[in-house]
Amino acid sequence: MNFSKLLLVPFVTFFLLIISSCGKLDQESKPNFIIIFVDDLGYGDLGTYGHPTIKTPNLDQMASEGMRFTQFYVGSSICTPSRAALLTGKLPVQTGMYGQRSVLFPDNAGGLDPNEVTIASALKNYDYNTACIGKWHLGHLKKYMPLNHGFDLFYGIPYSNDMRPEGNWDYARENFPPLPFLDGHDTVGVSLDQSKFIEMFTQKSIDFIYQNKENPFFLYLAHSAPHTPIILSDKNKGKSKRGSYGDVVEELDRSVGEIINTVKKLNISKNTFIIFTSDNGPWGWANVDGGSSGLLRGNKGSVYEGGYRVPAIVWMPGSVPETTTNVLASALDLFPTMVSLAGGQYDQKSIDGFDLTKTFFENIPIRSDIHYYRQDTLIALRHNEWKMYIKDPNPWDDGPTQKEMPLLYNLEHDPSEKYDIRKENKTIIKEIQNLYEDHLQSVFKAPSQYDTIIPSYQPAFDDYNKKN
Ligand code: MG
Repeated sequence: MNFSKLLLVPFVTFFLLIISSCGKLDQESKPNFIIIFVDDLGYGDLGTYGHPTIKTPNLDQMASEGMRFTQFYVGSSICTPSRAALLTGKLPVQTGMYGQRSVLFPDNAGGLDPNEVTIASALKNYDYNTACIGKWHLGHLKKYMPLNHGFDLFYGIPYSNDMRPEGNWDYARENFPPLPFLDGHDTVGVSLDQSKFIEMFTQKSIDFIYQNKENPFFLYLAHSAPHTPIILSDKNKGKSKRGSYGDVVEELDRSVGEIINTVKKLNISKNTFIIFTSDNGPWGWANVDGGSSGLLRGNKGSVYEGGYRVPAIVWMPGSVPETTTNVLASALDLFPTMVSLAGGQYDQKSIDGFDLTKTFFENIPIRSDIHYYRQDTLIALRHNEWKMYIKDPNPWDDGPTQKEMPLLYNLEHDPSEKYDIRKENKTIIKEIQNLYEDHLQSVFKAPSQYDTIIPSYQPAFDDYNKKN
């Protein structure tokens, strides 16, 4: 060995030591998690999902740098139960998040049981700092609020942005308080200017990311938009060819860009798992102020694909591949996946989600079934490409819908659920019937959290029900 090679040995050894210690550090350090959950955005509402006039360059870029799901589902097609499912990994029937009125209202005394384990409370056991910014909607009494569900910080509104005295609904106009805005448990304002909400939630999120750049964090950024009423500031108005709804989606897109740029600027991209998705499909009754489910049938509140299937983009450069995938995934899977990535434990028997690390990191299918509930009733079950309706998907429709059950669709051939093919597929019908019965045997049904009304509301509530 000559002298120059001898000199090289300690240098190379030192260099290898640095590389291995960096690798070890990456493996040992816990990933950060950011869930960006928007309200009532439909499957067809983003540029990257084919909308012809809504421009979403930041989400398009997020999709090109990450994984864009074409078959991502939520645990329910309406706000409250969908949020409960995302945070607990449990179907809403298991947490009592069902009832006659579909969601919780300001007169409800119920909420998500503080004993339920959420992503936030699970991650608290593994040294995470946690924040809930935006809309909660899992019970507005103190015991049900985010600070009692594992969040260190809450900044936002306790329920939907339309649950306020303004508007056309008599009962709300006469009984609901002005929409409160909270910081932690404290109401810091009422009836605030909603045109500022996206900006306020984004800035608070950026501050939280900066404050936690050195330690693992979980940010649940649940925007109250594009749920109606759509209220825009002058600077965001009139920009989109799609009108007001397009303006608000484009504002959300800019917010996503700011969050991702913050993560990039702080050099924590490789260690930060971000998912962007929606709580349910578009609000069909809102007419032009509601979004689009694209080629999918149905809207928010329905058991059709348009209610349950939403846009979803997962991003973590270096770990999540750059691809579009048609592998099945659900918001129910975020709880076990995140706890698992944090190096934690959870009780698989008590939840309905699956650890999708292999789906998110390697594009490998794990989940094969999707359950479509209306309140506490299982209406349909998807198994691989097959979706079977055991009960009528639209009992209110007195038009010429098919009322003889079951109905069977092949969602890979027919994502719009147009062609019932039960007659040709008797074996599949039998197979899904068995899965349906097994599910009903195993599922736990918690008492409804929607049934109790706060005593001060009871007379007005009874009076309203008598009249309607
Ligand atoms: Mg919603």
